[in-house]
Amino acid sequence: MATRFVIIGGGPAGNSAATYAARLGAQVTLIERDVIGGAAHLWDCIPSKTMIATGGAMSFTRRIGGMGLEQQDAEVDVAALTGRIEDIKGRLQRNTIQLLESQGVRMIAGGARLLGPNRVEVTTSSSVEVIEADAILISTGSRPRIPDWCHPDGERILTTRDCYPPNQFPTSITVVGSGVTGVEFVHMFSSFGAQVTLVVSRQQVLPNKDAEVAAVLEDDFLRRGVRLLKGARATSIERVDDQVVVSCDDGRVVHSSHAVLAIGSVPNTDGLGLEAAGVAAERGYVIINRHCQSNVSHIYAAGDVSGKLPLSSVASMQGRKVAEHVMGLQKVAHRHLDYDKAASAIFTEPEIADVGLAETEAFAQGRKIRVTKVPFSATPKALINNDSRGFVKIVSDPATGVVLGGSIVGRHAAELISVIALAVTAHLKVSDIVESLFVHPALAEALAEAAE
Ligand SMILES: Cc1cc2nc3c(=O)[nH]c(=O)nc-3n(C[C@H](O)[C@H](O)[C@H](O)COP(=O)(O)OP(=O)(O)OC[C@H]3O[C@@H](n4cnc5c(N)ncnc54)[C@H](O)[C@@H]3O)c2cc1C
Repeated sequence: MATRFVIIGGGPAGNSAATYAARLGAQVTLIERDVIGGAAHLWDCIPSKTMIATGGAMSFTRRIGGMGLEQQDAEVDVAALTGRIEDIKGRLQRNTIQLLESQGVRMIAGGARLLGPNRVEVTTSSSVEVIEADAILISTGSRPRIPDWCHPDGERILTTRDCYPPNQFPTSITVVGSGVTGVEFVHMFSSFGAQVTLVVSRQQVLPNKDAEVAAVLEDDFLRRGVRLLKGARATSIERVDDQVVVSCDDGRVVHSSHAVLAIGSVPNTDGLGLEAAGVAAERGYVIINRHCQSNVSHIYAAGDVSGKLPLSSVASMQGRKVAEHVMGLQKVAHRHLDYDKAASAIFTEPEIADVGLAETEAFAQGRKIRVTKVPFSATPKALINNDSRGFVKIVSDPATGVVLGGSIVGRHAAELISVIALAVTAHLKVSDIVESLFVHPALAEALAEAAE
């Protein structure tokens, strides 16, 4: 009999596990209480990047003066923007559903909970069903963290999920939280012309990133007139008439038309029946081993709920690895997922992307490295694009030349980092990059130069 594999949650982790497991011969049931595609399609990656792309086009029109064109400012059409976001989400959801259907995955629209280690209860709008499973994947994702001192109203006091776009476009907005999501929202709203204030709890935006990278972004924010409130923690956000007042622990107070919270997320495991199945968790995140197995060996967790890297790309890869493990492929040919080799990007302007070993990390480990850096100002295509901000940095092993990591700040950094990501995963040497025949003129030429 085929392995009965039940998946709870149809985001990137659940969908990729379902597709691969079905392809490998499992009998797959995928339960989703909201929308197939998950938060990634509905509220996170797709709508935020669509808004950022439109905002980027708007800010580009402010720079066209330098390209031999007459300067003209664009204006945002909120209805058209909303339509564009819904259209993209709809297309991606339809594609995902078609793919799952084509693999014979049974999809159930309903909420699921574990009744025991091999039983899942599904509640739909019209019925309650209990499904027996040989293997279970928990891929229920996460939701924005809301502290008890803040009460989002979806109108003026927003979570990230209320922003695509907000009912009324902000004239001014205070962003609370200066991690990846916070800085992307600063970029997004300032591109649309809002006056933005960013509450930064430490002395640097993106506290976990390379100081040099964060400095480029801070410079860009300051040039655009973004106000940075460093060393301040928000302690209350209140609505006073048509204003939002954000108060900080150092006594500073910010008034704006809107405020948005971007202070992390919490896992969706409340009421999921983890205890009934004997699954161990910490702060709500399911504890997993390198195969994404929980302490109950046939119950897996993948995606944000596993408490590893909260990225859609990582969730999908975890889902694929789970499918391989459920179907016993790890005994044949199976590469373990190495979270240290995940490329990530921040969709600001300039874009920021990195992968593998960071310079600061290597210094902290006392590891010998070779660091080479090339600014885009020397790259012909950057000049042609009228945007030569940023640089490419490659970290390699001085003895062997093997590429260990890299970071890119600049236009299309999220695309360009793929070359370094491939080099890191495949243990390529800097000479492999140097000797690749790249297109001219192209931004990728900076990679070859940085690898010299
Ligand atoms: C604003 C923002 C922007 C982001 N942008 C990016 C980006 O550009 N690139 C990137 O790689 N990552 C990005 N991320 C992170 C990315 O969205 C997540 O890492 C990704 O969605 C995790 O996928 P997942 O499969 O774990 O969960 P999700 O996508 O959250 O899907 C989980 C699904 O489980 C369902 N579910 C939950 N409980 C139950 C239940 N009991 N029964 C049935 N169904 C259930 C939910 O309805 C949901 O559809 C962003 C995050 C945020 C907040």
